[in-house]
Amino acid sequence: MAERADVLIIGAGPGGIFSAYELVKLNPKLKISVFESGNPLEKRKCPIDGVKVKSCVGCKPCSIMNGFGGAGAFSDGKYNITNQFGGTLFEYIGKKKAIELMEYVDDINMSHGGEGTKLYSTANTEIKKLCLQNDLHLLDASVRHLGTDINYVVLENIFNELKDKVDFHFLSPVEKVEKTEGGYKIKVGDDYYEGTCCIISAGRSGSKWMETVCRDMDIPTKSNRVDIGVRVELPFEVFSHLTDELYESKIVYRTAKYGDLVRTFCMNPKGAVVNENTNGIVTVNGHSYEDPEKQTENTNFALLVAKHFSEPFKDSNGYGESIAKLSNMLGGGVIVQRFGDLITGHRSTQSRIDEAFITPTLAATPGDLSLVMPKRILDGIIEMIYKLDKIAPGTANDDTLLYGVEVKFYNMEVTIDENLETPYKNLFIIGDCSGITHSLSHASASGVHVARYIAGNYSK
Ligand SMILES: Cc1cc2nc3c(=O)[nH]c(=O)nc-3n(C[C@H](O)[C@H](O)[C@H](O)COP(=O)(O)OP(=O)(O)OC[C@H]3O[C@@H](n4cnc5c(N)ncnc54)[C@H](O)[C@@H]3O)c2cc1C
Repeated sequence: MAERADVLIIGAGPGGIFSAYELVKLNPKLKISVFESGNPLEKRKCPIDGVKVKSCVGCKPCSIMNGFGGAGAFSDGKYNITNQFGGTLFEYIGKKKAIELMEYVDDINMSHGGEGTKLYSTANTEIKKLCLQNDLHLLDASVRHLGTDINYVVLENIFNELKDKVDFHFLSPVEKVEKTEGGYKIKVGDDYYEGTCCIISAGRSGSKWMETVCRDMDIPTKSNRVDIGVRVELPFEVFSHLTDELYESKIVYRTAKYGDLVRTFCMNPKGAVVNENTNGIVTVNGHSYEDPEKQTENTNFALLVAKHFSEPFKDSNGYGESIAKLSNMLGGGVIVQRFGDLITGHRSTQSRIDEAFITPTLAATPGDLSLVMPKRILDGIIEMIYKLDKIAPGTANDDTLLYGVEVKFYNMEVTIDENLETPYKNLFIIGDCSGITHSLSHASASGVHVARYIAGNYSK
């Protein structure tokens, strides 16, 4: 006989964690089982130390993407309270409710070790005016910067609170989800578990698996967007007037040449550039620490160009993967190039990187990004760098480092309703694997939303 729970939760990232948290709070009698393909938090260790292991060795499961805390566990912990980016949850549950839920999760984070961290706001700043004067658009948000270290403490505290009230199954990748008469049955290795409700929160790393679940269960999906670009690294001082006041600024620019939207993304003052491994493809990302001891002299951020495709092309992520694979093929991983070399048409060499007035925080392969990135995307990035130079002089310096490729994959969008419920009753798809969230705040909020709906049904 399969073990039975009231609620099965697949994935222990922010979506899964906050579903469990809220369910426990609203109805402690519910039996909740969480299945996570990765390790518990304390066992998540990426072997890259920059000395013995310099680049990704393809661990399974990957400690950066999988395990308690999900993809965000070692992230910079930038918790953005906004409907302007980070997902489209508001289209399903309404703008007011989405913000209320994000604020609610922020309060939980504050009461679990995050107290004392700073909340920045972009509204009505001089920087917004400066951007507008230069054809740039600063998006509105409140940004809580937890930092990688405090983010870890918050997750640890939440886990300690939940561990005796929820059955956690680690190193337990769910292979199959099936509809039964009384709910759902899932397969983990040789074992089966049953539940009345099933919440799937498999995140970005579970995107391929999610596709098979949707195919097997005939849940309609669509996929038409991918963002492609580079990670920019420059001396901290160049952006300090923005990062001191806002920490993270999301700035959008429409290119003059093609009318494409280019945006800054994931800004890390005094941070480090890191590798990211998605389904075996190495791309680039960045993070930073609150602890001054761990900070660097550089700031990094992504510049991403949004690519929307129309019919008949359906595989936007495949397009992004092919470009990232090309950089992996040429550079054995991530490629780094000086902005000056890119503009003058030279491949960067190790000696030119060593002679630069900036020390890279990631040991990437010096190379030529113009051999990897489509012209249209590269042109957009170069245009944006010159625009940013107007509000942050020094951005277009020859020594500014560009790491490629950074790809923001969007999960296919699944068909769900205002309760984030699929066409199957009591089967919910939330967080990044639903395609409607792309951030810690939206994913967490989607978890709380579903938990409240399920708890409400149980109390009827
Ligand atoms: C390096 C990095 C930095 C980031 N920085 C930020 C940031 O500063 N701010 C921000 O808002 N966002 C950030 N993000 C994005 C953010 O982490 C995600 O949007 C968020 O974690 C999504 O939450 P989720 O619960 O939907 O999915 P995830 O966090 O991806 O969690 C899903 C979990 O499900 C598990 N899983 C997958 N498939 C299965 C399966 N079949 N069976 C069992 N378990 C499974 C995975 O192991 C994973 O632990 C960052 C992401 C990365 C990779």
